[in-house]
Order: sequence, then C-alpha cells, then structure tokens
Amino acid sequence: MAKIKIAIVGLGKIARDQHIPTLNASEAFELAGIASPHHSLDGVPSFRDIESLLKAVPDIAAVALCTTPQVRYDIARFALEQGRRVLLEKPPGVTVSEVRALADFALRRDVTLFASWHSRFARAVEPARAWLAGRKLLKVTVAWKEDVRVWHPGQPWIWKAGGLGVFDPGINALSILTHIIPGGLVLKSAELSYPSNCETPIAARLLLAGSLGAMTHVELDFLQTGRQTWDMGFETDAGHLALSMGGTVMTVDGKAVETSQNTEYANLYAHFADLVRGRSADVDCAPLQLVADAFLCGRRIEVAPFIE
Ligand code: NAP
Repeated sequence: MAKIKIAIVGLGKIARDQHIPTLNASEAFELAGIASPHHSLDGVPSFRDIESLLKAVPDIAAVALCTTPQVRYDIARFALEQGRRVLLEKPPGVTVSEVRALADFALRRDVTLFASWHSRFARAVEPARAWLAGRKLLKVTVAWKEDVRVWHPGQPWIWKAGGLGVFDPGINALSILTHIIPGGLVLKSAELSYPSNCETPIAARLLLAGSLGAMTHVELDFLQTGRQTWDMGFETDAGHLALSMGGTVMTVDGKAVETSQNTEYANLYAHFADLVRGRSADVDCAPLQLVADAFLCGRRIEVAPFIE
C-alpha cells in the first residue's frame, strides 16, 4: 500500500521528540514537508507557513499540527479547506467551539479530522479500561505533578491565555479519565492558582462526579521538583487499580500487570492511518470541555509570580 505523504506544521519540541522519529519509522506515512516560521529540517522540504508548503508540495495528503494551541484553528481550517487530512496535537483548540466548528466543517467536506489525545495511546490505558469495565468504581484519585522548568523550558505561550498553564499536562490526565471511566464525568468544583504575572494557572484541584456515582479528586501542579508524578488510583468493589508513569504502568492490588511494548505515538499514528484509509473522523471534546468548565466555575487564587 502506498505511504500517505504527510507534513508537520510547527517544528518544536513535540515534533522533534515524537512526531519525526515516529514518522521516520512508520510503514503507513512518509514525512514529505515541514511548515514552521523559524525552523527547517535537513533533507525535508521546509517552508515558513502551510500556504507555501501546500503550494510547493501539492501531493501532501495529510498534516500533523504540532504548533502552539493558539494558532491551531486557522491552520486546521485552511488545511481542511484544501482537502488535507488533519491530525491535531492536544489540546485540539483553545476553545470547545473551535473544535466543534472544525469537526462540523470536516464532516461537511468529508475530510478526516483526528483530535489526538496521545496519553490515551499509552500502553496500559486500554488494559485499564477493560479492567474497570466490569467493576463498580468507588473513588478515583489523580496526582499529575511535574516541573514546568524541566518539561517546558522557554515556552512562554503556556502562560498566555489559551496556553492552558498546568492544564497543558493536566489535560492528558483528563483524556485518560474520560476514556476509561465508564459513563461520563461532571465537573463539580475547581480551585485554580494563578501566578500574579501569568494568564494561566500553575496549579489546580478539581472535583469530578462520575455518572455512576464515584467521585474523582484531581491535583495538578507545575512546580513539582524531584520525583515527577503522573499517577492515578481507582478504588473499586473488586480491587485497586493503579496507573502510573502517565498511563504506561499498571498494577492491580499492588501486582504489576504485563502490557504491550508499543509506544504512544506509534499507536497514535496507526490510528490516524486507519482514519485516513477509512475516511472517518475521531474528535472527542470531553477533556477540553472539563478544562473549559474548570475555567468557568473555578475559584481563583493568586500566588507568587512565576519566573523561569
Ligand atoms: P514548542 O516547542 O513551543 O513548539 C511549538 C512550535 O509551534 C514552535 O516551534 C513554532 O515554530 C510553531 N509555530 C508557532 N506558530 C506557528 C505557525 N503559525 N505556523 C507553524 N508553526 C508555528 O511547543 P511543544 O512543546 O512542541 O508543544 C506544541 C504542542 O504539542 C502543544 O499543544 C503541546 O500541548 C503539545 N504537546 C507537547 C508535548 C511536550 O512534551 N512538549 C507533549 C505532547 C503534546 P517556530 O519555532 O518555527 O516559530
């Protein structure tokens, strides 16, 4: 089967850390172009913007948008207008209305749109979902705590409106929760800590109610030094499930559960290839909706300024 020619838009950290190595190893995709205002990739045709890229390399069939979230909507809309299949890095937009508009537009034009949530493709997430499906959930706790200075150096966009602040990693936890907890989740309350010099929060606490009754307590922190924590615990009527390391390690009642060795981004691109070949879409706003709800109802606390 011919490979799908794909371009990356936005040559930053995640493009270099994950998308390029995954595409270089892919049997389904061929990396055929780059569009990024200030960066180019040796050996791959590179342009400053998507308009020049698609004009110069018209046989590009798909684009992976790895830009900062604030510019994603206009680029996605243009790519869909041009009939290109679109993969959106997370978060898929800065507002829920942006993502819904893109989903409607893609559907009307019959063009594939994939709002990707990479953490859902972590190796222990599907086994955890299957394990939870047959049990009554009693309580969920989530601690998603990392050091922003280590993981997001020199990324001022995170602190600007639309950059999500601590929800940039926190939405990964919400993407897992909304995927594996049976029934929906409702945001009941939120407490958001804003540095006095930032437009987005640096820490948050959320309380979520499951439609089947269990409460979920979420703690997000961007100032965690030492051990980094991307952990979830699920108390059920038939045992305790722990998911740690961002959904890659699973234990049940303290015993490790064997999972596949596949990597998140290999799984993610395999799913995108299926969507492109099946001419279908995968757009789930649930994680972004919970973040939007936290901004709607969250109690604001001002904390010390953040100096990188
Ligand atoms: P980053 O290192 O700041 O890279 C963002 C890139 O976007 C920049 O390199 C910039 O290109 C590009 N860009 C900005 N405006 C553009 C435009 N109009 N057209 C084309 N490119 C444009 O940020 P990042 O860490 O890669 O994060 C990007 C996205 O991936 C975020 O939504 C983030 O949540 C998500 N993500 C990040 C990680 C991670 O570990 N960092 C993990 C998973 C997902 P120039 O430099 O050429 O100006």
